[in-house]
Amino acid sequence: MKLKRNPTRSVQIGNTSIGAGKPIVVQSMCTTHTRNAEETASQVTELSKSGAGIVRIAVDNKRDAQALEEIRDKCDANLTVDLQENYRLAAVVAKHVDKIRYNPGHLYHHERKKPILEKVQFLADVASENDCAMRVGVNSGSVDPEKKHLFDENDAVSPMVSSALEHAEMLDKIGFYRYCVSLKSSRPDRVIEANKMFAKQRPEVPLHLGVTEAGMPPDGIIKTRIAFEQLFAEGIGDTIRVSLTLPEAEKYREVVAGKEILEDFAAGRVRSVVRFDPDRLNIISCPSCSRVENEAFIDLARQVKAITEDLQDEAITIAVMGCRVNGPGETDDADLGLWCGPNFVNLKKGEQKVGAYRYNEILPELRAQIDKLIEERRTS
Ligand code: SF4
Repeated sequence: MKLKRNPTRSVQIGNTSIGAGKPIVVQSMCTTHTRNAEETASQVTELSKSGAGIVRIAVDNKRDAQALEEIRDKCDANLTVDLQENYRLAAVVAKHVDKIRYNPGHLYHHERKKPILEKVQFLADVASENDCAMRVGVNSGSVDPEKKHLFDENDAVSPMVSSALEHAEMLDKIGFYRYCVSLKSSRPDRVIEANKMFAKQRPEVPLHLGVTEAGMPPDGIIKTRIAFEQLFAEGIGDTIRVSLTLPEAEKYREVVAGKEILEDFAAGRVRSVVRFDPDRLNIISCPSCSRVENEAFIDLARQVKAITEDLQDEAITIAVMGCRVNGPGETDDADLGLWCGPNFVNLKKGEQKVGAYRYNEILPELRAQIDKLIEERRTS
């Protein structure tokens, strides 16, 4: 079956290109410490051999940035770099990669008085000078704070779309067109709505799809399928990533899952007959990346799933995040959130901190908080 595709423009990323009816490219991301060039290059190669057309690497500091040169020398894959708050690192890393991803919600943290347009201009200039594409990567867990205030607090989708549209317009104004956009959320229904809204207004801009923090397989794959299948049916999607919480040695399974979803859809095997139900237990966990400081995070995510097996009919969202960089913010929307540091796991109830617990103490504490929450809801 030939997929219906939106008439997006072509964007060159290294030796591949997305958009303009080209096959949808599967992406993945490294979980190794970026500063360890040897291990990271080896994981890049493994992901690439599994079928990833583009591999993303997180860069948080100069040490990571310097390692990129060695990583680039050791592998042939198309590389994209994930910038956090320090957008100026783009100038150091761009020559070693093919695409730069920035998050509009993170451009506020450094040089607060500088207009956002100037920062975007800087990124576009760096990308142009180094033959790089860009991705405007909007994430519901770290959406531009100014956009959040413009909409009803229960509307999680409009601030994302508004931020993506604004940055697309800024890049157009600058004259930089070699970009794609992503609008990610841990809820498939929001991913579907946000991407449909954006594509309706900017059908020519290529979209990278993903359900962020989808969790562990099989649940993470099911949630992702729900979003992708509905979006593919509308002709939306030029690249995809299935974000799964997996140990380092199994990271290639993200790529395999992405390829399977694409193959199934092309063959008419649409499997997500169910819709995402926000009134059931939803465990979201990040796919991990170089920012994880304690490998016990993966096992913790697995154990959280195990101790909540009996609660499938409870409308509770539990978030398990692997680091202190994005963990504190991206657990805000969950009923109960855990984010992992080197020695302690921080437990939150909504936006409020409950406490920090050792890895071997956190599970009973989490379960006690879940039971308390259920009791509070029953008696309120
Ligand atoms: S929450 Fe932290 S460890 Fe997990 S994927 Fe995001 S940045 Fe990486």
